[in-house]
Amino acid sequence: MSTKTEQLKTQFEFSRGFAVEMDQQDELSHFRDKFWIPPKKDGTPSIYFCGNSLGLQPKSAAACIEQELHDWKELGVEGHLHAKNPWLSYHELLTEPMARVVGAKPIEVVCANTLTTNLHVLMTSFYRPTKERFKILIESDAFPSDRYAVASQVKLHGFDPGEAISVVNPRQGETLIRHEDIEAILEQEGKQTALVLLGGINYYTGQFFDLKRITEAGHRQGCVVGFDLAHAAGNVELSLHNSGADFAAWCSYKYLNAGPGSLAALFVHEKHAHNFDIPRFAGWWGHNKSTRFNMRYDFDPIPGAEGWQHSNPPILSLAAVKASLDIFDMATMPALRRKSVKLTGYLEFLLNKVEDERIRIITPADPDERGCQLSIQMRNTDKRLFEMLSEKGVIADWREPDVVRVAPVPLYNSYQDVFDFAELVKECLGKI
Ligand SMILES: *Cc1c(COP(=O)(O)O)cnc(C)c1O
Repeated sequence: MSTKTEQLKTQFEFSRGFAVEMDQQDELSHFRDKFWIPPKKDGTPSIYFCGNSLGLQPKSAAACIEQELHDWKELGVEGHLHAKNPWLSYHELLTEPMARVVGAKPIEVVCANTLTTNLHVLMTSFYRPTKERFKILIESDAFPSDRYAVASQVKLHGFDPGEAISVVNPRQGETLIRHEDIEAILEQEGKQTALVLLGGINYYTGQFFDLKRITEAGHRQGCVVGFDLAHAAGNVELSLHNSGADFAAWCSYKYLNAGPGSLAALFVHEKHAHNFDIPRFAGWWGHNKSTRFNMRYDFDPIPGAEGWQHSNPPILSLAAVKASLDIFDMATMPALRRKSVKLTGYLEFLLNKVEDERIRIITPADPDERGCQLSIQMRNTDKRLFEMLSEKGVIADWREPDVVRVAPVPLYNSYQDVFDFAELVKECLGKI
């Protein structure tokens, strides 16, 4: 069943009683207890709608990290082989659960490095410009780090970012990007385009792109296609393998709840797994495991995503990723997404009921074209509404010039959170 039909079946009501009932019927409601919800000044839980920026701490994270501190204390270097979860292969514990989150095959995924670093690592391999084909296509309002990374890669290869970076913009008077406009640009400049690199979900508008459609449009022109999934991983159901995308990268601290700056992940499509001619930055952790400690061999990359690793990874950080992925395996992406469509649909319904000209949702109305985040444009209220909401215990974020992003996360947010938020919006607007 498509998410749209599912949502049509739900008849929402603007009442606290309705929200309470929805929470009672929610088969995932008990997951909220597995997280620490930051308290308001009065000690009661805040309305935390910032999981798109930093996911909340699973209560199990401490024990997972503690286990590694304990094994380090008791075993020292022996922990590499004899820890409860031996450190040498610790990252392998995360491969399958992470692959399930993004709809990839295990050989396509590895937890390594951080997001921007992974973009560089992957562009080193997959942005191979020539005089004829050197452009990178990105979306307007791409995340700053991605824009900087792309511009510096272009320069590294001796091209001028002004010439080599193409941007797909929304049409005049619109806020969202049309897929047909991406296709039209590729029809026009595809033969000069080396790489298409888009955010799977745009961090600002919350627009969820059709990865397969974009990949096919890029591949028709012979371009490499990659995605930044920072706002998509753990938020929407992805079929990364089936999308055919060449590569992708995402962080683990947003929807994946693995803690500030925690280790990221990368995806390299299976079709590239055994192509050792692809140039890459190398390090010992990407080298054949059976000879890694012999230390005398030339670089012999591991097939698949693991061959793009460099260093032995920070185990304390991986332990937090493990705590989080265990929860994703219990909840499962399809069930999370089913709840998410309803929860965000409810938020949208309530905000529309507030019927105030000063707030406008710029995120797509079609649930298939968004994740859980709604971006609310505030007109003629400057930052006051946002500040009043913060004062009342709402944790959301403000993005210049005039957008508040709110992300009800199905793992730990409730229908009552959504209802209370909408009530506060109404109340605060009444005071401005
Ligand atoms: C959050 C985010 C980043 C952050 O990059 P780090 O390297 O993890 O600091 C980069 N790109 C996008 C699209 C993001 O949403």
